[in-house]
Amino acid sequence: MVIGGGLAGMVTAAALRHRFDEVVLLERDKLPTGAEVRRGVPQARHAHLLVSGGARVVDSLVPGFLNRMLAEGAHRVNAPGDLVTMVVGWMPRRAGSQFLLSSSRALLDWVLRDMVSRDPRVQIRAESPAVELIGDAKRVRGVRGPDGVLEADLVVDTAGRGSRTPKWLAELGVGKVRTEVIDSGLAYATRVFLAPEAARTRFPVVNVQANSRIPEPGRGGVLLPMENGRWIVTLAGTRGGEPPATVDGYTDFAMNRIRHPILGELIARAEPLTGVHGTRTTSNQRHRYDELDLPEGLVALGDSVSAFNPVYGHGMSISAHCAFVLRAVLADGGSTRQAQRAIFRIGAGPWGMATGMDMHFPNVRGVQPGPLDRLRRAYSDRMGLTAVSRPRVYDAMTATYMLAKPMASLMAPGVLLDVLRGPIDPPLAEPPLTTDERRRAGL
Ligand SMILES: Cc1cc2nc3c(=O)[nH]c(=O)nc-3n(C[C@H](O)[C@H](O)[C@H](O)COP(=O)(O)OP(=O)(O)OC[C@H]3O[C@@H](n4cnc5c(N)ncnc54)[C@H](O)[C@@H]3O)c2cc1C
Repeated sequence: MVIGGGLAGMVTAAALRHRFDEVVLLERDKLPTGAEVRRGVPQARHAHLLVSGGARVVDSLVPGFLNRMLAEGAHRVNAPGDLVTMVVGWMPRRAGSQFLLSSSRALLDWVLRDMVSRDPRVQIRAESPAVELIGDAKRVRGVRGPDGVLEADLVVDTAGRGSRTPKWLAELGVGKVRTEVIDSGLAYATRVFLAPEAARTRFPVVNVQANSRIPEPGRGGVLLPMENGRWIVTLAGTRGGEPPATVDGYTDFAMNRIRHPILGELIARAEPLTGVHGTRTTSNQRHRYDELDLPEGLVALGDSVSAFNPVYGHGMSISAHCAFVLRAVLADGGSTRQAQRAIFRIGAGPWGMATGMDMHFPNVRGVQPGPLDRLRRAYSDRMGLTAVSRPRVYDAMTATYMLAKPMASLMAPGVLLDVLRGPIDPPLAEPPLTTDERRRAGL
């Protein structure tokens, strides 16, 4: 039994269908029969990219997923070759072995749902909220849905940030789960554009990262190419530096408030297709189920366990890795408690990456950086500068960011040595768009 039909729910159903006779997925929402934003996944209005480490796992759980996405118009963006990105400074472009899948979140959800629902072992029940766990403190035996009790050998909670498992566990007499929240107060403002005609089929991702090295709110933004010749442009600012969710405020922020006006210049030549949508559902939040004596028969994964500051673009990929590891632990005869601890470990590295950056922004809530955190940040800054001219460092940074390699590879001896040697050249002074890309974008 899977609670929640977002991305985590779909990849979980896909992962478990070979292990159980039947997988029933309960989704609270009415589900659209196409690529549409729906109430239960409001974040779909904002930029969503799937990093290659996650995309490959989704493709292994749902074979053919990547090809279908590309056929539907998603962009496969080479990383770092097709990334125009400002980290400490502008990074050079060089073809690499990683990639980003860039599309609307609505398309991604629709393709996954459509592919998973074709398997007769998976039953997706829309407009079917789970309202209670059935069982006791030792074992969960099912859930209560709209039509009464549904028994199950295994219940997986993938109900997202709003999951009610902490409350349901308390009702079963299991202890209170400890919840960690680290909140930089980040706000998003997003608008969708029709790209200039010559830039519709192929265009790089353009990313201006916030600078956490100065004692000011972080401000940044990203442009992602999507299906149907559209660009989605999300602007973001931490507490005190939030982008306004008005057309004038958004345009001014893109042009004047972030570290480089490139996003403002690009959208000035594109045709707006939507108004500006805002969100503040961005804190890093994790429930420490791994510390509890959880009842057997229950696992939580996806945002219902660990939700991350979305600016790092990791949530969907981590969900896929967790579904994969859940299947592996069960296949090895492991218990659901062991699976829950493995799920925690998968999120731990990306949690460290996200919170390790966020804690340095002013007025962050939930943590204050200590000397070790400042040392880590200094290493990370030096790594960003060194990566400009030392490919081994840039490759390691890219692969870990894409969740294709563990965070520990940033400390591999060769990488460490290069970082200690430091940069050879300074970052580029201007965004490395090619002459052809500039022409196609009308710059
Ligand atoms: C603004 C924003 C931008 C993001 N950008 C990225 C990005 O670029 N890349 C990335 O990898 N990740 C990104 N994320 C994170 C990503 O959206 C999530 O990690 C991902 O959606 C996985 O979430 P989920 O399936 O666990 O939960 P959700 O997507 O929230 O889905 C939960 C589902 O459960 C359903 N549900 C809830 N309660 C019940 C119930 N009681 N019974 C039945 N159904 C229920 C909901 O209706 C919903 O369908 C972003 C998040 C935000 C907020």
